[in-house]
Amino acid sequence: MEKNILTGDRPTGRLHIGHYVGSLKRRVEIQNEGNYDNFYIEIADAQALTDNYDNPGKVRENVIEVALDYLACGIDPSKVTIFIQSQIPSLCELTFYYMNLVTLARLERNPTIKEELKMRDFEKAIPTGFLTYPISQAADITGFDATIVPAGDDQLPMIEQTRDIVRSFNNIYGETLYEPEAVLPDNEACFRLVGTDGKAKMSKSLNNCIYLADEPEVIREKVMGMYTDPNHLRVEDPGQVEGNTVFTYLDVFAKPEHFDAYLPEYKNLDELKEHYRRGGLGDVKIKRFLNDILQETLEPIRTRRKELAKDIKGVYKILEEGTKKANEHCLRVTERVKNAMGINYFDDPKFLESQIEKFKKEN
Ligand code: ATP
Ligand code: MG
Repeated sequence: MEKNILTGDRPTGRLHIGHYVGSLKRRVEIQNEGNYDNFYIEIADAQALTDNYDNPGKVRENVIEVALDYLACGIDPSKVTIFIQSQIPSLCELTFYYMNLVTLARLERNPTIKEELKMRDFEKAIPTGFLTYPISQAADITGFDATIVPAGDDQLPMIEQTRDIVRSFNNIYGETLYEPEAVLPDNEACFRLVGTDGKAKMSKSLNNCIYLADEPEVIREKVMGMYTDPNHLRVEDPGQVEGNTVFTYLDVFAKPEHFDAYLPEYKNLDELKEHYRRGGLGDVKIKRFLNDILQETLEPIRTRRKELAKDIKGVYKILEEGTKKANEHCLRVTERVKNAMGINYFDDPKFLESQIEKFKKEN
């Protein structure tokens, strides 16, 4: 069996540092380890349209933004296939057949969907396309026989839904599809990076993001405006580290060498946290430290992005070639699925033969 990987993002905006630590960084590592047969990254424009159907221009423009973010982070198109979801028609076919295997109640139970419906004020009038996007995600994954899906933890219910569909399908139509596994980031704080406002998740839809393409001054402003401990009013007050966004980000981004470079008076993060808890350490100092770290981390990505943006035609070419390869692969899988279901009327000489025999006997 092939070892195939599929992952992706919705082109609803540029990618942010939540994507970076939650998924992008891991993707580049997996790519460089090279232990796979096919590695697909999907720009999920059709899924983005399920809640942006009235703003197709936004989705269209962000396809290239997301592609630039991938390449800027080190995704190498000679090792990884980047494709655009809407250009793979057989994904719609798979979705249509999988819909028969999923109840409405099962879709409504999906905790990520529940949260997203609330966030989008969709609870009273749920668009069918939006509610069913986990089914189309099952098509995305199984359509490439992907068994490994690197993602953030909000994707776990989608992987579970895919596994359910695979099991039902195989039960009814015979062993055809493979069950996928999620690959979560190593560091738990990266499963779901909080927003700069301290809200549960950094998300394009919540306006609480630090984008990979942000300019240095914008990053600085966002860091200086970050949510900390609301009760830590004066420097001498004892402060809380848990739920303090600056410390959450430091947990994710601070490395020993950052202390040597920017804050040599502390040995490590534990010492810094201890001082904050005790009192006597101001928010401005920890924010400046975080800013230094983020500037250092994002500078090379931003520079590469600007370089890549000089050749947009070249980036589209990468997407076009990737989409062509993805299309061929998905067509092969879809044919297998349709064969299993017996909806291959013109490709099954044995069945034709048996039908001829049947009618011969009847007459
Ligand atoms: P939208 O608001 O349009 O849903 P988003 O910011 O949630 O956008 P997606 O395109 O839905 O981004 O998510 C793409 C991938 O990035 C998924 O694997 C998701 O788990 C991961 N991801 C998104 N936000 C975060 C985050 N804050 N922390 C960690 N991973 C994240
Ligand atoms: Mg999302």
